[in-house]
Amino acid sequence: MSSFQSQQIDAPTRRQFLKTLSRGAGGAALAASAAPLVGRAAPPAPHAETIGIALVGLGNYATGQLAPALQETTKCELTGIVTGTPSKAETWKQKYEIPDENVYNYETFDRIVDNDEIDVIYVVLPNSMHAEYTIRAAEAGKHVICEKPMATSVQECKDMIDACDTAGVKLSIGYRLHFEPHHQRVMTLGQEEVFGPVTVMQNGFGFRISDSATDEPHIEWRLDKEMAGGGALMDVGIYAIQGARYVTGEEPVAVTAQEYKTRPEVFSEVDETLFFQLEFPSGTVVDGSTTYNGNYNRLYATARDGWFEISPSYGYGGQKGRTHEGPMEIETVNQQARQMDAFAECIRQDRPSRVSGEEGLRDLQVIEAIYDSVAADGARVPVG
Ligand code: NAD
Repeated sequence: MSSFQSQQIDAPTRRQFLKTLSRGAGGAALAASAAPLVGRAAPPAPHAETIGIALVGLGNYATGQLAPALQETTKCELTGIVTGTPSKAETWKQKYEIPDENVYNYETFDRIVDNDEIDVIYVVLPNSMHAEYTIRAAEAGKHVICEKPMATSVQECKDMIDACDTAGVKLSIGYRLHFEPHHQRVMTLGQEEVFGPVTVMQNGFGFRISDSATDEPHIEWRLDKEMAGGGALMDVGIYAIQGARYVTGEEPVAVTAQEYKTRPEVFSEVDETLFFQLEFPSGTVVDGSTTYNGNYNRLYATARDGWFEISPSYGYGGQKGRTHEGPMEIETVNQQARQMDAFAECIRQDRPSRVSGEEGLRDLQVIEAIYDSVAADGARVPVG
């Protein structure tokens, strides 16, 4: 058996030694968690100083954003990885000092149940794999962060929530913008009606998939309906839906939607461009859009007595906010580091994540209604 597959224990590394010390300091918490739970895995006892996170799927987002962000967290630590590619495992082990026994592949994944250095499994796989790995992580007694979209259907979201509830573990969705200060500001401006009630919003997020990029692994699965669940809407349109929901603080009651394809040969299975309109109970109307055929990125809200916007809005950084009174003077932050540290706090304080499974489920309800409207030639479809 290769070291990649094995669970052998090597001589302790410096980090393991420090963790052993910190576990000693957290002995009371550990002792409490060691009480047997009948019929299910015991939820993990957090390490005394840091929450150990294992990333599942070492693709673009995990490599380019999450692993670097983990180095900037104060309450989390990258303690494990799950990958089907042995060469990636070697690179990550060296770069992030991950010991052999914390490296898993998709066959050995369930053995994580025995690893007390891993408190949280972070699922960063193609969308169709989110439900399976979230449920398996919960069954291994681990808390879960699952990337957006939470799953490819409402039913899968419900199954994931149930699995986490049954296992007594927490579930959080990778909605990083809830931890970004410009977005936090527009939540306040909208929900507290600082400029009066929001009347109309325009939210859009899209990027162009070039014809030459369609064979790239991280694009290939995005064009496959079974793997992705849908196209631009599932991938990036979801941010426009989120923006509308957290600015209004309400759930949309109905949608209408229209689809356009300029390259049907590329987007034979998934949507390329969608326009959608969301109706909110207190009267706000949202003009939403998403595409794989151009780069745009904006949240705009007009209210009774003014307006506010973030443009660019939805990226990993570089947010620029303005209101009718002038620019928002706010610094950008490492969103993912804040997101993971916030989840670590939820685990320690035993409270739900603000970006819970229910939050992910509500977006899937809106997404399903939008696809239903397209299928019904733009008819008005109630949500949920
Ligand atoms: P990616 O293709 O770069 O990475 C996917 C990983 O899954 C790869 O390491 C791949 O090897 C692995 N994998 C395992 N089984 C696979 C299979 N059968 N087919 C294809 N890949 C397989 O994709 P990504 O851009 O990193 O996206 C991963 C997830 O993260 C998606 O759900 C995406 O929506 C989400 N994401 C979120 C953000 C964000 O800002 N929150 C940004 C990018 C991606």
